[in-house]
Amino acid sequence: MSTAEFDLIARIRARVASRDDVVLGIGDDAALLQVPAGQQLVVSMDTLNLGVHFPEDTAPADIGWKALAVNLSDLAAMGAAPAWCTLSLSMPQADAAFVDGFLDGFLALAQQHAVALVGGDTTRGPLSVCVTVHGFVEPGMALRRDAARVGDDLWVSGTLGDAAAALVQWKAGAKGGQSGLSFAKGHSDPLLLARLNRPTPRVALGRALRGIALACVDVSDGLLADIGHVCETSGVGAQVDIDALPASEALRTVFDRQTRHGLQATGGDDYELCFTASPDVRDAIEAASRDTTTAVTRIGVIVATPGVTARTAEGAWSAPAAGWVHFS
Ligand code: ADP
Ligand code: MG
Repeated sequence: MSTAEFDLIARIRARVASRDDVVLGIGDDAALLQVPAGQQLVVSMDTLNLGVHFPEDTAPADIGWKALAVNLSDLAAMGAAPAWCTLSLSMPQADAAFVDGFLDGFLALAQQHAVALVGGDTTRGPLSVCVTVHGFVEPGMALRRDAARVGDDLWVSGTLGDAAAALVQWKAGAKGGQSGLSFAKGHSDPLLLARLNRPTPRVALGRALRGIALACVDVSDGLLADIGHVCETSGVGAQVDIDALPASEALRTVFDRQTRHGLQATGGDDYELCFTASPDVRDAIEAASRDTTTAVTRIGVIVATPGVTARTAEGAWSAPAAGWVHFS
């Protein structure tokens, strides 16, 4: 490893906060970590690649935030309490300014959730960020994809389609407005853009749903696709009420109903929790929502017939053919 990379690691090490359960953090060949007695270790990993998972003009701090946020979102969807993370950073050259900016976003979110960065790897190559997160959950308490039951309510947190909408705007600008949308080059509505660049992992809600919700998934690939994963794993189907899907003011302002529905149902990068629960526990879910100040909305039901069907007041709904999911 070159001096430049060693310097980068020293920069990272100087800024990280520790935790009592980190016996040995950054600096040795490996970290030593103490899992609390009676807890299961929950592990997840996600990679962000330049041009695939974030546009080229994304600020380093936003890349840092999002790299951790998408991972914490996976822990949230399991009902796990985040504890530690590792970071693999691949960069074309040792770029201290990039690393400093990246850490601004990454560590701000890490601090919010008391997550300690305990190790990683720093290499040369195309810009790519891979994070692994570790958390804890009591045995038998994890929210799994295979636990949905016929008759369950289907719920979702927050609002849907904001990140995908920002991407549509960004693409429209980047292509000189060829899609017919009138936005300045590369410009997105700031509220929508914040949802794309700085997703909020619903960690507190996921924790509060333990013992109440049954199946849970975080919405990263588009709502209907992710509900499909739950249904397949659980051996059930789902009926989704498109009119009920929660929308932000910003989304309502910018897009007509039809476009909005497409973004909400199939756009990616929401990082909201979609979960199922018996209708008997609606009050408990509303209480969990209030306790964690995280909005939740009932959007459908789990049925015996396999597959995911969607409808509006007008009848059966299917996603409009649109290539807005990828920007590269
Ligand atoms: P080794 O050669 O033994 O793999 P490295 O020189 O790659 O060790 O890393 C030295 C130390 O710095 C290790 O503790 C490693 O976990 C940590 N480290 C390296 N890169 C990062 C990074 N991007 N973020 C956090 N810790 C890192
Ligand atoms: Mg190494």
